[in-house]
Amino acid sequence: MRIAVLALQGDFAEHEAVFHRLGIPTCQLRQKSDLELDFDALVLPGGESTVQGKLLRELEMFERVRSLIKEGLPVMATCAGSILLAEQLLDDPTVHLGTMGITVRRNAYGRQLSSFHTVGDFAGIKDVPMSFIRAPQIESCTSDVEILAGYNGQITAARQENQLAMTFHPELGTDCRIAEYFLSEML
Ligand code: GLN
Repeated sequence: MRIAVLALQGDFAEHEAVFHRLGIPTCQLRQKSDLELDFDALVLPGGESTVQGKLLRELEMFERVRSLIKEGLPVMATCAGSILLAEQLLDDPTVHLGTMGITVRRNAYGRQLSSFHTVGDFAGIKDVPMSFIRAPQIESCTSDVEILAGYNGQITAARQENQLAMTFHPELGTDCRIAEYFLSEML
């Protein structure tokens, strides 16, 4: 088994470190030819969605990544990655991959709350550390999207079949349980 991590920008190394702690090999997707590698799942890391979307297009990786997800490749997206998956952004005509039935508001927590840390439940897993960094919010989702976590009444993690989107960063600490959920429930 091998997990591909989109490594154009953002905190891809932290995601790789989580899988390495679990003994799972990873590979980095940095250019079009990397999409021919053998992998069983994809991670879209946090970072800056505008930059990531632009690079995906400029490097001609966009269409292949999109069709792999549409064909059912398991994908785990955090923060900016969730913005890439969203079929709609609030007050913003931009759509990147647009494969997931979620509507997302970028930088939704405002300035003073733009970064914070909490713990919460995720799909029945208790007290998972959650770091929100200039985080988006999932404002709404289509009826086939399952809500897996929330914070203050807002959706912070959601799943639609092969796609898992989180507005926080589970990969920044030492807790590997969300990666374990992804491996056991989605691969
Ligand atoms: N604010 C960033 C964006 O809009 C996302 C932040 C993050 O990934 N931590 O892309």
